[in-house]
Amino acid sequence: MRKQIAAANWKMNLGFQQGEKLLDEILGAKIELAPDQLTLFAVPFPYLLMARSAVGEEQNYYVAAQNCYHKKSGAFTGEVSVEMLHSIGVTYCIVGHSERREYFSESNQVLAEKVNLCLGSFITPIFCCGEALTIREQGTQNEFVATQLRESLFHLEADKITQIIIAYEPIWAIGTGKTATTRQAQEMHAHLRSIIAGQYGQDIADKISILYGGSVKASNAIELFACPDVDGGLVGGASLVAAEFIEIIQALKE
Ligand code: PEP
Repeated sequence: MRKQIAAANWKMNLGFQQGEKLLDEILGAKIELAPDQLTLFAVPFPYLLMARSAVGEEQNYYVAAQNCYHKKSGAFTGEVSVEMLHSIGVTYCIVGHSERREYFSESNQVLAEKVNLCLGSFITPIFCCGEALTIREQGTQNEFVATQLRESLFHLEADKITQIIIAYEPIWAIGTGKTATTRQAQEMHAHLRSIIAGQYGQDIADKISILYGGSVKASNAIELFACPDVDGGLVGGASLVAAEFIEIIQALKE
């Protein structure tokens, strides 16, 4: 059974106290999750330890980093290594968010290195893929995401690929209020699963959680999460509002 996941991506938002209050409100809702349901909070680096202690021993709630560096250690001023994340108990990390790809020129090859380092340090990568509007308009989105997966993930052995979470995030839907229709989301998720099945076999493909990201809100989460190949969401804007994110977590249970 694959995991159903609600993952919050705070990006570079909220002051420290605001972050503490938000976590307090969300965790205060005491939503009990089944063993195959997870909630993740990808908070800014300086808040990771605070978030870890806020989450505490809460079942199936975990903290994620939003990024990591693609080298193990060394003279890389200002960067954060996966080993550092591991040393403070972080067990998930977003890799290849479209904002990192766009503003920090992260290539599929660099992301492959990040994926390897995460897996080597017991950190589950939440690997993001997705096409820009121009690519969708040309109708080449399927080939585009296939290349992202092939170049960053398909060097992995079967036992490693099952440790990855994939997030499909069409760039045209991120922070725009424009959500992919359930049909567009389901079609792409089924396509991603079929590419993985082509490489690793259907059994492996069926084990991998594929999250949808792009203007997920309380009002559309139930419908999106009900798609057979959508295993939850990676949520930006709506994860900053306690009432919204609480409903999104609850949507996992519908
Ligand atoms: C994201 O940051 O990954 C995202 C999907 O943002 P939003 O939900 O705001 O579109």
